[in-house]
Amino acid sequence: MLIIDGSSGEGGGQVLRTALGLSLATGTPFHIDNIRAGRARPGLLRQHLSAVRTAAAVGRAEVDGDTLGSRSLSFIPSSLVPGEHQASIGSAGSAMLVIQAVLPALLVAGGPSRLVVEGGTHNPSAPPFDFIARTFVPTLARMGADVRVTLERPGFYPAGGGRVVVEVGPSPLRPLDLVERGAVRSIRARAVVSAVPVSVAHRELRVLRERFGLEREALICEDVKLPVGPGNVVFVEVECEHITEVFTAFGEKRVRAEDVAAAAGDAAQAWIDGGVPVCEHLADQLLIPLALAARSGGDGGRFRTGPVTLHTTTNAEVIGRFLDVRFSFEPTASGGAGAGTLVSCA
Ligand code: AMP
Repeated sequence: MLIIDGSSGEGGGQVLRTALGLSLATGTPFHIDNIRAGRARPGLLRQHLSAVRTAAAVGRAEVDGDTLGSRSLSFIPSSLVPGEHQASIGSAGSAMLVIQAVLPALLVAGGPSRLVVEGGTHNPSAPPFDFIARTFVPTLARMGADVRVTLERPGFYPAGGGRVVVEVGPSPLRPLDLVERGAVRSIRARAVVSAVPVSVAHRELRVLRERFGLEREALICEDVKLPVGPGNVVFVEVECEHITEVFTAFGEKRVRAEDVAAAAGDAAQAWIDGGVPVCEHLADQLLIPLALAARSGGDGGRFRTGPVTLHTTTNAEVIGRFLDVRFSFEPTASGGAGAGTLVSCA
């Protein structure tokens, strides 16, 4: 049984999720201690517990330590069960992160699967649905993956109540080649309000329209019908020749709508100026697909990103415990557009 230290590197939930996903994909049992020791509220929160239980159902696993607040867990998978699965987080915990935990297993399972997750779909410090749908899934598709995601209902912190469906058809992953971003083709801005005055979304879109010189058709305002609870999120979507990236900011009490929009705009502008195709979030999320491609074909491919984050190096280390693959991180230039890190896996 592999022993994983949950406090290593970044010390967050990703250590657990990567261990779950690769334990399932490889059939390797593991024991993890110090779960989320680097976080203010360590141990298993509802979202992580939901990931553990969903993973246990997908892998017919024997589990010990799956209680709220638990800081250690043993997970012994037996066989992968594709097909219908569902998870209800029971809070606004991120549904997208539950998906992140089991997707590696569904990608390598011997049949199609459909997973329905209820919880938060737009959470700070997690990939929002739109990033998964517009950035992550299309990049996986370039690697040959057959994944579709559908947002049936958005869910915001603290009320939750969102619902996402993921359908996965098994297909071997090919190496990724995402070194160039290509020219910026278009920029769109979208503001979503749920039980929040629509004027908030209009103010956010005005800021982004002026900042990026956007036409009216590039501005989307969405007022959630039958909202479960309050929420506001702004996206700047930058479509380039080889990738579309989505930058996100969340409305918060006592933060002006203009400042929320500016934060999303700043993130998008920093990425445009950086000249690399893969943003810091996509970078850590692509490591498992690369490793799975390398496992089957010897080469997982490569992508270019900016400075490597602790999330990325931590993820690479955990992946290396389960799979006999090696990541390399090479600086590609110094300063200015074109600078970055070439990440490859073999
Ligand atoms: P952890 O902090 O260990 O729970 O991991 C959080 C995960 O959410 C990582 O895979 C991050 O890349 C991802 N993430 C956080 N914020 C965003 C964002 N704005 N867009 C996309 N992914 C994100």
